[in-house]
Amino acid sequence: MVSVVYEAPDSIQDAVKLLATSKVKANVLAGGTDLLVQMRGQHEPRLIVDVKKIASMMAANVSADGVALGPAVPSAELSARDDIKAIFPGLVEAAYLIGSTQVQGRCSVGGNLCNSSPAADTIPALIANRAQCVIEGPDGERTVAVEDFVTGVQRNCMTKGELLTMIKLPQPAPRTSDAYLRFIPRTEMDIAVAGAGVSITLGEDGTCTDARVAIGAVAVTALLVPEAAAALIGSKLDDAALQAAADAASAASKPITDRRGTIEYRKHVVGVLVKRAAKIAAERAGG
Ligand SMILES: Cc1cc2nc3c(=O)[nH]c(=O)nc-3n(C[C@H](O)[C@H](O)[C@H](O)COP(=O)(O)OP(=O)(O)OC[C@H]3O[C@@H](n4cnc5c(N)ncnc54)[C@H](O)[C@@H]3O)c2cc1C
Repeated sequence: MVSVVYEAPDSIQDAVKLLATSKVKANVLAGGTDLLVQMRGQHEPRLIVDVKKIASMMAANVSADGVALGPAVPSAELSARDDIKAIFPGLVEAAYLIGSTQVQGRCSVGGNLCNSSPAADTIPALIANRAQCVIEGPDGERTVAVEDFVTGVQRNCMTKGELLTMIKLPQPAPRTSDAYLRFIPRTEMDIAVAGAGVSITLGEDGTCTDARVAIGAVAVTALLVPEAAAALIGSKLDDAALQAAADAASAASKPITDRRGTIEYRKHVVGVLVKRAAKIAAERAGG
């Protein structure tokens, strides 16, 4: 008989203790839309630590410093938060793209990040917005930038006993906004062939004064592409600058060929998405 022990602590300290001292494989459960699928057909003893009873994991607070996003906040709740959408519309859109209405009721940005799929929709949007992961473990707390969090296909920097406890999104400068776009072969319920998250800051005269460009599904991890941002900064986001950013993103990508698309196709598509996402972000930023 398989022994699966379910615990639902109400504090981070208790969750960390359970994870750190477990003698069997231990998994954090947020929405379970990845975890439960992955557990099918597996018969090893396991500890499941449900974090949804921990208040801070399920809260999202907006302050002058930015947004402190509890990692287990369901996408449906995030999509209903106009205060967060007003600051990070692209991130909220990325979370809204995950799955169906049913999946949305449970799936979370933290789960998307910790599952660490190369095609995870929220990761490029988080990177574009300079998001930081707060991680707590037996040795205390540490903070890691999202672009350094994922280390490979379904691998990340967390070690035994560690828990992602907060995603911090710093308050963007005035006249800043973001956008996330992905391409899928179907109209919905599919994973990205390529994705792009872009954040743009505009000066009073419409010149781009800052930018962040991140791409997804075109390498083993989502990538921050500083060369693409550099092509946009200092420009009025004219066609030449947008094309240079697209070319930089295509050049930085390292996709594979699979049944969803070839290397050449993905490289082209990711450039197109960067161009379009940059235009949308700039329009939102007031351009
Ligand atoms: C039908 C369907 C459609 C989908 N469509 C998409 C899609 O379009 N785009 C997309 O990106 N994904 C998609 N997914 C994948 C999945 O829904 C997302 O990755 C989702 O965001 C996972 O969130 P969750 O809360 O359900 O994570 P869970 O399944 O609870 O957790 C995922 C992983 O992260 C770990 N984990 C979760 N929270 C923490 C934490 N705080 N600290 C440490 N580890 C943690 C878990 O142990 C597990 O390994 C889809 C899945 C399904 C079933």
